[in-house]
Amino acid sequence: MTTSSDAVSVERAVAQALRAARSVVVCAHVNPDGDAVGAVLALTLALREAGVNVVPTLADAHDAPATYRFLEGFDLYRPCAELDAPDVFVALDTPTWARLGDAETLARSAGAVVVVDHHSDDACFGSLNLVDSAAASTASIVWRLLPVLGVAPTPAIAAACYVALMTDTGRFSYSNTTPRALRDAADMIEVGVDARSLYSKVYESRTAPALALLGRVLSRITIANNGRVVYSWIAANDLAETGALAEETENVVDIVRQTGRVDAVVIFKEEGGTTKVSLRAKCPTLDVGAIARSFGGGGHVAAAGATVDLPLQDAIATVLRVLPGGAA
Ligand code: AMP
Ligand code: MN
Ligand code: MN
Repeated sequence: MTTSSDAVSVERAVAQALRAARSVVVCAHVNPDGDAVGAVLALTLALREAGVNVVPTLADAHDAPATYRFLEGFDLYRPCAELDAPDVFVALDTPTWARLGDAETLARSAGAVVVVDHHSDDACFGSLNLVDSAAASTASIVWRLLPVLGVAPTPAIAAACYVALMTDTGRFSYSNTTPRALRDAADMIEVGVDARSLYSKVYESRTAPALALLGRVLSRITIANNGRVVYSWIAANDLAETGALAEETENVVDIVRQTGRVDAVVIFKEEGGTTKVSLRAKCPTLDVGAIARSFGGGGHVAAAGATVDLPLQDAIATVLRVLPGGAA
């Protein structure tokens, strides 16, 4: 258990390490979501304000998700293969080495690794670990680090944090929508965030191909396990046939979770011979993080994921068995 005075001293140590570093690389987990991009860009912009030499990078070789291209600092992303070992590597929103994907090698070659995260199962693999599972998003922790870094929040830093907070709280609807999360959001708006505009950029900018993909997913919605589970799937050829981008599948699970009277929501994504599983709990006593971990994945109590080494139909049968109302 970390006491708040411990947390303050870790914040100070992190700020000191970052300010003293001659080079910093900032990275988040593979398949970056809004928090992964927002937290990375917020810390990058803040360190630039502080005069620190900093580069944001991506955990996988793919491009950064175009969904968040509008955020300031997005053009600063550099592929990790092009980067030299930095003094400090910051892993944001990333609970394990493995979730750093291609960037793990660069992280291991760094002088020091700093972990900043809100996953309750974070392995604390850094030499400094600023981990707060009560934080609604990793960017919330970055936001609170600003005064410790001696950086005044700018509208661009606030926008990156706001997008992270909005997406990780499911548009301020999940159980992590705490007073603290809403106070932080209010502070960000006071600094100059345009909440309406950012909402529209993230949630009202779907392309026609992405909507065509969503149509396929909605048409496959299946209620299983005696009414306790809703699931659907994205087949390997759906992206090519609709023209949707991989990152445009990120919010599909949010729409499927609109289904009433179920305890769990699952999206299965066929990826070659393996299947990516996205799990969401609607019932507060269901821990989908534990279920994801039993398949070698991870995540939070109410939102988790895993990649199962099975073809689509086998993955569906196997995962349904361990969900509420399943045979197991
Ligand atoms: P997703 O379903 O991909 O939106 O992910 C939901 C949550 O689960 C996020 O916190 C992810 O970081 C986490 N997660 C997803 N896939 C994995 C995985 N293969 N291993 C560990 N954590 C994961
Ligand atoms: Mn994330
Ligand atoms: Mn997060």
